[in-house]
Amino acid sequence: MTARDEIEWGPRVPKHKLRRLYELDAQGIDDEALTDDVGTTLWVRCQSILTVHAAQEGRVSCPRCRRRGRETVIPRERGRRGDPRDEVLACPQCGWTITWGDYHLSYKRQQLNAGGAVTVFQRFVDAYPRLRTPREKLLAIDRLIHEFHFSLHAEPDLPTRPVAVNLIEGRLTDVEAFLDELTYGPGLPGEVRSQYRARLAQRDRWLREHRRG
Ligand SMILES: [Zn+2]
Repeated sequence: MTARDEIEWGPRVPKHKLRRLYELDAQGIDDEALTDDVGTTLWVRCQSILTVHAAQEGRVSCPRCRRRGRETVIPRERGRRGDPRDEVLACPQCGWTITWGDYHLSYKRQQLNAGGAVTVFQRFVDAYPRLRTPREKLLAIDRLIHEFHFSLHAEPDLPTRPVAVNLIEGRLTDVEAFLDELTYGPGLPGEVRSQYRARLAQRDRWLREHRRG
């Protein structure tokens, strides 16, 4: 087993489970097991996204210690010279050792970048363990998967892409189409979807204008 094999990232939720959850809800059925399954998967996934974010910011969490129920942060060296990929990160507690280059490869192209939605993922991670009923959990899941990333650069109010691409299996266009096709029961707040659609429209308008210019 290599050091990289010890890093575990939570998977994205398969579309069929979410589809089923929404279909049952539209029929007025609370499926507690399915809600917990989807909610927990999203919770672990959001934690992985935040762990990657912390590592990018210079605080790498040791996966071996974490598996043993301990949190050890290995700080990356600021202002280090040379190729950043060569930096060696070693856990002072358990001895787990990896280069930054190898660590980076573990999350590269895995849709684990928090981008312009750090607070969205953090809010769900903080809130979810306190939710009790399947209804509360479904409302939190519904809110989460309709959130957006916002531009980190020129325009902080500009929505760039749905966070669903980080959380649900599939490519960006598949995931956007999937959210469009979900069955929404009367018990789910319409504002969540209307805000999602408004942001999608704002993003598309911006893309059109900037492609032309
Ligand atoms: Zn360790």
